[in-house]
Amino acid sequence: MKYNLNFNDVAESYLFAEVADRVAKYSKANPDKKVIKLGIGDVTLPLVPEVIKALHAAVDDMAEKETFKGYGPYEGYSFLRDAISDYYKKMGVALEEGEIFVSDGAKSDLGNILDIFDKDNVVLVPDPVYPVYVDTNVMAGRKVLFADASEQNGFLPMPDYSVDADIIYICSPNNPTGAAYTEAQLKEWVDYANSKNAVILYDAAYECFITDNSLARSIFRIEGAKTCAIEFCSLSKIAGFTGTRCGYTIVPHALEKDGMNANKLWLRRQSTKFNGVPYIVQRGAAAVFSEEGMKQIQNNLSYYKRNAQIIAECLDELGIPYTGGNNSPYVWLKCPRGMSSWEFFDYLLFNAQVVGTPGAGFGRNGEGYFRLTAFGSRENTEEAVKRIQLLLK
Ligand code: PLP
Repeated sequence: MKYNLNFNDVAESYLFAEVADRVAKYSKANPDKKVIKLGIGDVTLPLVPEVIKALHAAVDDMAEKETFKGYGPYEGYSFLRDAISDYYKKMGVALEEGEIFVSDGAKSDLGNILDIFDKDNVVLVPDPVYPVYVDTNVMAGRKVLFADASEQNGFLPMPDYSVDADIIYICSPNNPTGAAYTEAQLKEWVDYANSKNAVILYDAAYECFITDNSLARSIFRIEGAKTCAIEFCSLSKIAGFTGTRCGYTIVPHALEKDGMNANKLWLRRQSTKFNGVPYIVQRGAAAVFSEEGMKQIQNNLSYYKRNAQIIAECLDELGIPYTGGNNSPYVWLKCPRGMSSWEFFDYLLFNAQVVGTPGAGFGRNGEGYFRLTAFGSRENTEEAVKRIQLLLK
């Protein structure tokens, strides 16, 4: 037996494990201090009533012979795929039958999709970004190139034709920077990918936070995207499904090369290694897209968006530069006084008992930056902001 030696090349501890470790040590030594966590990107509001109602009804379905469900379709029940298709239609995107695949979340699919691509592909990943893209490719032994995101380019790297990438990751709105591409900017990426015969793996996990109409909520709004892109989306942030688990991936029929078709390969992969998302969860997910469900989740999204504004207003007052906060649940700030990401992490923890995420954990270019999230409670967000103001003014 031999282990996969590529695991030696991935960073040993996941970023949030190190954060949790430092917070636990601090809390143990200072049990009287209340620590406020604006670090991890998990939601805090419960599922909306319409989803709960659908989940209960689906549990009852499982109790009756007539409505009981066993294995479902690999690509998800049509009642959910149709609901997702309608959601896209409202965004101005027409999807064909068979292009939507329901999954247990975007993270799984972002990792699993690599099964359909050869090991010998050049991967281009923005830096900084959600660490899963790099780690999953390193585990598979692939070479990763980075597209530098910085203050100079507004944390939105654009294509460089001197680089021959095969698999390109785009996360918009970006985790951690909150920066989001306009449709015009995405068109440049689509043209680049088509000209290089490359594929864009487009992560739209935070599309629901976009309020500015010039920003893209789906790559398939862009002409030419169907021949070069796969889109990953999730119900985690839009509807609080981080613990319930449901997402979807769109693989266009038009995405093919050398007689091989991405949609067919993905269906083949899923039907071999995946037996579908629970019926009960899919019923809950479909309720998200109902008229009443959409209304209810908008209230939750507004709550998080206001939290983001509260954080952004605090940084405005302090004169600290940041991106995000608008069109994103993340606020990405420059560490004050030239501190490194981890120095600022400790400084904030020790002096204000506020926890964020050090930018260095998202890539080399994240050094010197820091991520705060809007997913906390209003009370905690307001208290954290007060403490930050007191400390840094
Ligand atoms: N994509 C990005 C950019 C994320 O930040 C996250 C989670 O934080 C995910 C995907 C994971 O989504 P899911 O919960 O659907 O697996």
